[in-house]
Amino acid sequence: MAATDFVFGTVGSPLSTPKKPGGTLGGVKRLAELKLGALELAWVQSVRVTLATCEAIRQAAHEAHISLSVHAPYYINLNADSDEWPKSRKRLMDAAYFGHQAGASEIVFHPGSYFAQSPAQVLRVAVPRLRACRDELDALGVSAVLRPETMGKSAMLGSLEDVLTLSAEIEGVEPCLDFAHLHARAGDGSGNSYAEWGAMLDRVAERLGEVALRRLHIHLSGIEYSVKGERNHLPFAQADLRYRDLLTALRDRGCGGRILCESPILEEDALRLQRAWRRLTGPSASTPRATRTRE
Ligand SMILES: [Zn+2]
Repeated sequence: MAATDFVFGTVGSPLSTPKKPGGTLGGVKRLAELKLGALELAWVQSVRVTLATCEAIRQAAHEAHISLSVHAPYYINLNADSDEWPKSRKRLMDAAYFGHQAGASEIVFHPGSYFAQSPAQVLRVAVPRLRACRDELDALGVSAVLRPETMGKSAMLGSLEDVLTLSAEIEGVEPCLDFAHLHARAGDGSGNSYAEWGAMLDRVAERLGEVALRRLHIHLSGIEYSVKGERNHLPFAQADLRYRDLLTALRDRGCGGRILCESPILEEDALRLQRAWRRLTGPSASTPRATRTRE
């Protein structure tokens, strides 16, 4: 695969995964049948896997050529109070440890809440906490990248600048760019054009270097929002998200990595994105691309 290509997949097993074997193993098999290439394990409530299950997932994904990531439990908050923080921390550490054993190279998590503090105040707490998590994981041999996600509500830690600061400050931390969240977060319909997507990507390159654009981890879906931000995820066909413009901005900057679909119709929209991407980058596309060689 060319370095600047994207692999597409779903957060959670495809909806069309047969009941047997079902679960993650069935999901891996189903993604391969659909000719998708990535799965994010949705460990969003808690991390409840054995090492034997992790090994079975790792094997299955390796054989099916499916790239794995983990979505850590929702309830992680780098800005939690001192009573709550140890529990939050354990959720993140368990997701990373068991995810790594299962063959996941990326661990996505929601960074937390501001609790009415300024982003700068919150980051003064969040950065050292996350750095200590990273150091402990490194000592355990857990090489998976920690990926704080951009969040869809303005009260939540997780603006583009927040996740870029966490990433710039700590080696082994890189952003999970949820562009639907970034669009919804503004609340006014902005963040939905080629120029705006391009400016966000340029900002990523400015703070983390061009190299970060070659290994992006992206979440994408349609989204419904109010002035306060995200309401819920929607299929692309029912939403205003201009994903083709986003894909074009990604193409024009030579971006690559993974794009995971979180739409309610998971694999259908993941395939839609993959088709759109291939139309933009394939042999018949107008711009000559290195990715041509792949076809
Ligand atoms: Zn998420």
